[in-house]
Amino acid sequence: HTTSPVSPREAVAALPAYSAGKPPKAAEGYTPYKLSSNENPWGPAPAAAQAVRDVTTLHRYPNPGAEQLRAALAEHLAVPFEDIVTGAGSLGALTQLISAFAGTGSDGQQDEVIYAWRSFEAYPIVVRTAGAQDVPVPVMDDGRHNLEAMTAAISDRTRVILLCTPNNPTGPALSHQEVTDFLATVPSHVVVVIDEAYLEFVRSDDPVDALALYREHPNVVVLRTFSKAHGLAGLRVGYAIGQPAVTEHLRKVAVPFAVSAVAEAAAIASLEHLDEVNQRVESIVQERERVVAALSQAGWAIPETQANFVWLPLGAGAVDFAQAAGAQALAVRPFDGEGVRVTIGEPEANDRFIELCRTYSGGPG
Ligand code: PMP
Repeated sequence: HTTSPVSPREAVAALPAYSAGKPPKAAEGYTPYKLSSNENPWGPAPAAAQAVRDVTTLHRYPNPGAEQLRAALAEHLAVPFEDIVTGAGSLGALTQLISAFAGTGSDGQQDEVIYAWRSFEAYPIVVRTAGAQDVPVPVMDDGRHNLEAMTAAISDRTRVILLCTPNNPTGPALSHQEVTDFLATVPSHVVVVIDEAYLEFVRSDDPVDALALYREHPNVVVLRTFSKAHGLAGLRVGYAIGQPAVTEHLRKVAVPFAVSAVAEAAAIASLEHLDEVNQRVESIVQERERVVAALSQAGWAIPETQANFVWLPLGAGAVDFAQAAGAQALAVRPFDGEGVRVTIGEPEANDRFIELCRTYSGGPG
């Protein structure tokens, strides 16, 4: 390549590239398993896959604003149609939210977006791309959000706060009481996003009732997805729920037709077959409990997880562990210097992961 005369905006030049979970590498004697992207190993309800094949209007643009899916969601969740905004994955909806609410102000100063860290890798990318300043607040040693520190991080430039519950990649979920108390510390003009990508896997005494919170608080927005529990990650469909004063702006900044016709059809079919979705979720939750118990018995100290993955806080040993897993054709997700996130997969994949943890010389964490 010759030196290029073109250059992107400064904020973009400095951005790290998003690095997605890698596929497994073949290893002699092992069936490969992908445990690196928090996918549903069982796939979608068969009716959702059938709905994709049944779409006959591929030459037509999709429904603008995915109105049929929004109507189905409105009924299913008992929320008004206008309160729902769909996107290309919940990441698409989050991108719309950040670009609508945070950027560079008319005084040339950057708006601030607060989130826990480590959390979902896309947060800094979306925030910085919008021209806003990200304010990461370290999670506590047990992988939980440090809500007191997040409150302390609020400044007069704060526009958005992202709560990730359960938190990817560390695993714990917030409680309803914690979020309620936190909201009381946040100025009402600051948008608080509750990212519930892993909602369906939560089994806790005091789960966040995010729909109740958005009804009470005009500044609360809930993010949900069809990628995890519904097993439709490949189709890219998610949504935000908020009051109309928020959602009207999210719709304005959306990429038109972001949700494809096939994604919309599959998502609607999946909502109509929730029993099958719930069965898949339940089997993943049971496998999670089995993995967590086995790891604990093997002496591993890991944070509580309410999601479809576990977090091994291996620090400097993260990449070594991922290599050891890779040598047995298990793709996992290392975060260099921090830890390894391992998705709950098929029972055989989980067995192999447990056995690796039992025998791994660098553990327990
Ligand atoms: N939020 C969180 C916390 C996630 O972990 C993910 C996916 N890894 C997403 C949002 C985005 O998911 P999608 O765009 O597939 O809905």
